[in-house]
Amino acid sequence: MFYLDSILYQVTKPARYTGGEWNSIVKDWEKTPIRVVLSYPDLYEIGMSNMALPILYELLNSQPDVLAERAYAPWVDMEAAMRKAGIPLFSLESKHPLKEFDVIGFSLGYELTYTNVLNMLDLAQIPVLASERNDYHPLIIAGGSCALNPEPMADFIDFFVIGDGEEALLELLDSFRNWKRPGKRAPKEELLRQVATIPGIYVPSLYQVEYQADGLVKSITPTVPEASPTIQRRIVTKLPPPVTKPVVPYIEVIHDRGAIEIQRGCTRGCRFCQAGIIYRPVRERSQEEVLQAIGELITNCGYSEVSLVSLSTSDYSNIDELVASLSYRYCDLAISLPSLYIDSFSVQLMDSLPSHKKTGLTFAPEAGSERLRRIINKNISEDELLKTAGAAFDRGWTGLKLYFMLGLPGETTEDIEGIINLVDKIRSLSRKTKGRTPQIRVNLSTFVPKPHTPFQWVAQESEQGLACKHELLKQGLRRKGTKLSWQDPKVSLLEAALSRGDRRLGRVIYRAWKLGCIFDSWDEHFNYENWLRAFEEAGLEPGFYAQRKRPLDELFPWAHIDAGVTTAFLKQEYQRSLDGRETDDCRAEACNACGLERWQPACQEKLTGG
Ligand code: SF4
Repeated sequence: MFYLDSILYQVTKPARYTGGEWNSIVKDWEKTPIRVVLSYPDLYEIGMSNMALPILYELLNSQPDVLAERAYAPWVDMEAAMRKAGIPLFSLESKHPLKEFDVIGFSLGYELTYTNVLNMLDLAQIPVLASERNDYHPLIIAGGSCALNPEPMADFIDFFVIGDGEEALLELLDSFRNWKRPGKRAPKEELLRQVATIPGIYVPSLYQVEYQADGLVKSITPTVPEASPTIQRRIVTKLPPPVTKPVVPYIEVIHDRGAIEIQRGCTRGCRFCQAGIIYRPVRERSQEEVLQAIGELITNCGYSEVSLVSLSTSDYSNIDELVASLSYRYCDLAISLPSLYIDSFSVQLMDSLPSHKKTGLTFAPEAGSERLRRIINKNISEDELLKTAGAAFDRGWTGLKLYFMLGLPGETTEDIEGIINLVDKIRSLSRKTKGRTPQIRVNLSTFVPKPHTPFQWVAQESEQGLACKHELLKQGLRRKGTKLSWQDPKVSLLEAALSRGDRRLGRVIYRAWKLGCIFDSWDEHFNYENWLRAFEEAGLEPGFYAQRKRPLDELFPWAHIDAGVTTAFLKQEYQRSLDGRETDDCRAEACNACGLERWQPACQEKLTGG
């Protein structure tokens, strides 16, 4: 054991590392045979806002023979102090070093946290390469949206959980219990072969990847009979009860409120959106379940604000009724609706919230013209957009935050001018209705082509092209007095390269980390030159992964991961985007046979009209 007190006084926000929060669970280390640590490869404040880890924390701790604790990436000051004092990375609950746990699970939600995974392992005094870990090192597992293309992290992770973790984790525990029986521990290889038979589990070391001379993937082949040629994403048919007793942080975190997942999945079908594919189909919790869960959350945590979490909150059936019931039952509760579709209904919904302050509404038109919105299947007309903005101003809102994406497939200068014109029209609308100038903020992100989406074949726009468009917008919007923020396109280029990368990128990630890259998603730490150097030393180019238009028959590095939506459907959607044709949301309209009808009962019923 080590003396944490000897370093905590040297670092910022020591409460990131002390644990002991309300509702944290500390089980008896000696009496609990299976020890798991759930890790998030970013700061405590970000990791504590993640929705998946509390679900797994509760699930694992509900097993009498399992203890689950937490670990986050220490900030650079803490890391330096720990390394100087020789303190290995430890869990927040019992302060045991991570290397003493049986399993370390990482949640991978963003590619720019990859080097933090390596850094955390190193700080835990665990070899970062899976091939260098022996039978007595902890098993390193990972899940989350990035696991849908696990290949760039294949060198570091023993196995990945693809899709919903709730059921898969319990099956994994059974394998683990068997493997860890006292006096009977078999080699790790045996466990890996066993877990490879569990649906949704991908063990990269049991697959061989071959490349063509031009660098494209030639084949991905299982090397043992237990490994399946394709790994099917796990989908829980019915969402398990929500977490109502989460750990309550003592310091301010990114989403500093209670949260209940009211539904999982979104079928609107925006063609750039990976979440819209990899969390299908839509699964709602009943209103009664949500109401009861919020009551428990308030009792257990003391929250006075609760967020109704979903990819598209206003699509939840009878959301207005749910909000009204919540306001009636818990009159002092502030309700946050994080993700709204752009329509007057959403404005009305926000207006019905009892304690909101009318300072800002956020909408994401994504593109500046109806033509481009048809290409990306963000099916909203300009009339509807203006009607929504008008409704917001009528109801007293004074500000709007608008999200747009730059570099979308098929984007032209007219689409960029379209953004400027749209902002202008919204501004004059406000002057007309209220006679005052509204606060309009425009937030620009860069389009990143993601695996398992209809745009997985397209090239990301060059840095120069993006810079020109950005300049155009800057000039155009400055004249209109609009605040503009945008993300460095270099960050998006790296994200694009890592997200569509193959197994060879493990060398790049390893080298980048060795060169000092950590906290890559933080502006003050992002070091593009080091990343370029890492690519070069690995004999690879980021542009090959990010900016290359891919032929329709290319074998992708993630071809063995079956997300549920078929490649045929994605190709059809890609073609429809080229034709400028929209596709309806299957929730409101007929089933589009995206592939889930093969094994999802609700989709089969919808398809057959049952
Ligand atoms: S199978 Fe049909 S109903 Fe199910 S998610 Fe796909 S399009 Fe929608």
